[in-house]
Amino acid sequence: MGYRANISKTTQKKAFDRTGGICIVCGRPLSRNQAKWSVDHFIPRAVYKWVPGRKIQRTIESPENLYIVHPHCNFRKGSSLPTNQLISSLHAEEDVKENMRALYKKVEDKVIQYRAIKQSTLDSQHKKCGNCGRRLSLGDAVLRRIDDEQDRVRENAICLCERCNTRICSKKRKQKLAEKHAAKNAEETEKRKSSKQQKGPDSHEKKARRP
Ligand SMILES: [Zn+2]
Ligand SMILES: [Zn+2]
Repeated sequence: MGYRANISKTTQKKAFDRTGGICIVCGRPLSRNQAKWSVDHFIPRAVYKWVPGRKIQRTIESPENLYIVHPHCNFRKGSSLPTNQLISSLHAEEDVKENMRALYKKVEDKVIQYRAIKQSTLDSQHKKCGNCGRRLSLGDAVLRRIDDEQDRVRENAICLCERCNTRICSKKRKQKLAEKHAAKNAEETEKRKSSKQQKGPDSHEKKARRP
């Protein structure tokens, strides 16, 4: 997904020139028409939103983190986050890749923290979309808040598939999602409780008391 908001045409042009007008993801030439460009953050903005810090925000918002790609190409395809392996696979001159590696190294610990939040959220959902229940890989999962009024913390995190993420954007739908999530959690807690009781030391007593 490309972001264009608040990025000046000059900055975009610089990013275009840095790769010689080549889409770094697929290696094919980009259109000269700026309207057809998609501006992608190599290190996604989501990282500093979930793992806040001034330094990391500055790095991610810096022009060196911007690349022009085709609208259907983006860094997240098939891999959830930047890695040195991803950088090696890109279509760019070695000096461009060297810059990317240096940028990544600066924020690597934060990226790892972000990935851990995402992984633990997805694991708690048994690797399924928190809305439709479809099986989900870490790369395809979108990490977002259950309740947008609350902070971005693990307790308020949910992993959705791309489709559900785009669909659930109205307030009403978000509310529904939060309710669904709360009900599911309550159900799981109840399940855990009852299985504990069955195995628990007082289970005989309880059985005996039944008529
Ligand atoms: Zn491309
Ligand atoms: Zn879904």
